[in-house]
Amino acid sequence: MASKSIVVAGGGFAGVWAAAAAARVRQDAGLDENDIRISLISKGPFLEIRPRLYEASPDTMKISLKDILGPAMVEDRICEIVEIETNTSKPKITLKGGETIEADQLVLATGSQLVRPIQKSIKRILFDIDTVDAATQLDDHIKSLANSTQEGQWTVVVVGSGFTGTELATELPSKLRAAGAPEDEFRVVMVERSDAIAPELGATMRPTILDAFDNFNIELKLSSTVESADSNCVLLSNGDVIASQTLVWTAGMRASPLATAIGANVDELGRLRVDRFLAVDGVANTFAAGDVATADADNGHCTLQSCQHAQMLGRFAGYNAATKLVGGEPMAYSQPFYVTCLDLGEYGALLSYGWDRKVVRTGKDAKKIKELINQRLIYPPQNDASALLAAAAPMVREAEDGIQRLLSA
Ligand SMILES: Cc1cc2nc3c(=O)[nH]c(=O)nc-3n(C[C@H](O)[C@H](O)[C@H](O)COP(=O)(O)OP(=O)(O)OC[C@H]3O[C@@H](n4cnc5c(N)ncnc54)[C@H](O)[C@@H]3O)c2cc1C
Repeated sequence: MASKSIVVAGGGFAGVWAAAAAARVRQDAGLDENDIRISLISKGPFLEIRPRLYEASPDTMKISLKDILGPAMVEDRICEIVEIETNTSKPKITLKGGETIEADQLVLATGSQLVRPIQKSIKRILFDIDTVDAATQLDDHIKSLANSTQEGQWTVVVVGSGFTGTELATELPSKLRAAGAPEDEFRVVMVERSDAIAPELGATMRPTILDAFDNFNIELKLSSTVESADSNCVLLSNGDVIASQTLVWTAGMRASPLATAIGANVDELGRLRVDRFLAVDGVANTFAAGDVATADADNGHCTLQSCQHAQMLGRFAGYNAATKLVGGEPMAYSQPFYVTCLDLGEYGALLSYGWDRKVVRTGKDAKKIKELINQRLIYPPQNDASALLAAAAPMVREAEDGIQRLLSA
């Protein structure tokens, strides 16, 4: 066959698994890189393990893309994509510097990023844990607090009590102690705009989260937000003034701007609407996966901006993009198995199951599962093409089968 190309844009969980799934289809069709060239283009050389960035040593939470994809003959290109044109039959990708690349099939997987506040009244470093670099900057800052002599030296204000904010807040007591904070002298303050903690996680998980907060003496400021901040203190909208040099923003994620720029239908988070094969609605030869896409996961339940959805969306998008080139039937995406596993620091963790988030494990039992997920299950094989391609098959796991396997793993 004449040489064809697949470009995967983005080297996160969705992009890595899309590229691996495409390489698997290529191999199964008896073809190689001379027949179908698969390239993954990403801003940096690593797969960043974003779900672990609240933990200790965030600088280590990354794996070389080359080590994952090189053995499977997927080319990785480290460059920023500045534009994608999809109004012709071959999507055209423009890289920073001006080079353009045409693809027979494109998988857009450029992920999401934190929406930072734009108030000019916040005149200080606003920390976050959205990327390895940002989380490392926060970690270094916490380690440097021992040298501070200012009031509020050991006070950290976390804005947003969603998944990320809650995991960070409950990890902070350990991080502060490790940095030298004397017991009973540190404060963690959680600021939440809503009138209830963890609004997106729902009522079933809330009692355990509140118990963990209580256990750590984490102070809750509900129905409030940050009004202004300078290098010494944070003023909240409820009038509270908190002496602190450490303000961490975790609230609000939005899809990569490249998704909106395509000009197709997007949802309120800027995610592209895709059909059941993950093709972008109304756009030729373009698939989307991960945090940049919104798909029906299970009978009207939409995918979330989560690692567990990104990994499987990637596999289906890569499979379907490659299948269009080699011939064969595309596979319809669905993902009925859904869990939420929330780390609560030294308190343990919380595992819920299903879309209504039924709590199935708490404390140390849930923590073991969280460690299994974070330390093993989300890591793709490295330097091993056959293990990678074996794991790259798209698969629909039924809910009951999924939870039984996880609980017995
Ligand atoms: C602190 C934290 C904790 C989390 N915890 C969990 C959890 O416990 N469970 C869970 O399921 N999910 C969790 N998530 C969410 C999860 O990490 C994301 O949903 C997942 O990483 C999405 O994968 P992705 O591949 O779609 O996008 P991303 O991880 O955002 O990757 C996108 C990739 O595209 C690249 N890119 C972006 N723009 C460009 C461009 N213009 N040019 C070239 N490359 C580009 C980026 O560099 C990156 O490599 C957490 C996220 C954070 C930040």
